[in-house]
Amino acid sequence: METMTLAQSLKSGDRRSLARAITLVESGRADHRAQALDLLQSVGNEKQALRIGLSGTPGVGKSTFIESFGLMLTGQGLRVAVLAVDPSSARSGGSILGDKTRMEQLSRDPLAFIRPSPSQAQLGGVARRTREAVALCEAAGYDVVLIETVGVGQSETVVAELCDLFILLLAPAGGDELQGVKRGIMEMADLILVNKADGDLKAAATRTCADYAGALRLLRRRPQDPQGFPKAMAVSALETEGLAVAWAEMQALADWRKAQGHWTARRSAQARHWFEEEVRRGLLAVLAHEPARGILHSLGDEVAAGHATPEAAATRLLGLLGKS
Ligand code: GDP
Repeated sequence: METMTLAQSLKSGDRRSLARAITLVESGRADHRAQALDLLQSVGNEKQALRIGLSGTPGVGKSTFIESFGLMLTGQGLRVAVLAVDPSSARSGGSILGDKTRMEQLSRDPLAFIRPSPSQAQLGGVARRTREAVALCEAAGYDVVLIETVGVGQSETVVAELCDLFILLLAPAGGDELQGVKRGIMEMADLILVNKADGDLKAAATRTCADYAGALRLLRRRPQDPQGFPKAMAVSALETEGLAVAWAEMQALADWRKAQGHWTARRSAQARHWFEEEVRRGLLAVLAHEPARGILHSLGDEVAAGHATPEAAATRLLGLLGKS
């Protein structure tokens, strides 16, 4: 299909066109890349969805949460897209969301669009593809884009640079101690949801939630937060308990940030971040290919042999790159 035709049918909300467009941005072929850039250009960025990042370790209930939360939103007539950011190597059983049993009902909902993670293993590549997929979902008129990530390594940082709101899903802790959640991840969270607050686990979830609420109060208040945020809440994805309240909190936070100008500022900063990342990636790619690779190697030999200082050799190489 012509890029223009694809852009048009995508903008009309056609899910098959959206899926095809995402396949195009995922492709590693040079001609596909050119078409993908064309497509992204022609769909524009007039429509904006609420981009929600969701992180949590395997088993915490992410798919159950997305299923319940997603169905609640589609029940209100909202269109919901679900994407994933993860190097597939992070999961032993293949790609995240690849399992057909995940989000069974939501995947059949005409107002929902669920995209399994690509098989690419490299985080940088996955980040670019997800970023472009988010843009395509927005152009296709989705109201909410959920970006899911397993809580491993750097994927949260990537998701935080892609979303408007970042949600951390946690399980009730067994003992009194806080779970080993890294401070950096806590600092990224806008909302901590302690899941499985039902049945036998309800008391533990309530306690864990109070612990996190306490820990959040100790963090320095961020300028992009109104009073009371970030917040910790107990929910049950399985029993759809607390999800409506969590949604109301997300909307209140989003509205406040929009009114204060933080929303636009964050998106601008993110755009700048990704621009600089792309340039960095491009430069690294140049270094990985001839002739730069050969020069890097031979200058490295000179440095290793003590014939040139690291600084002087680096300046020479950068000078050569600057001229090319
Ligand atoms: P994911 O790996 O993070 O996607 O987690 P899943 O959604 O697959 O859930 C892992 C397990 O936790 C499953 O057995 C779910 O049924 C269970 N689970 C998820 N949410 C809840 C909840 O709110 N309450 C209870 N009791 N169990 C839950």
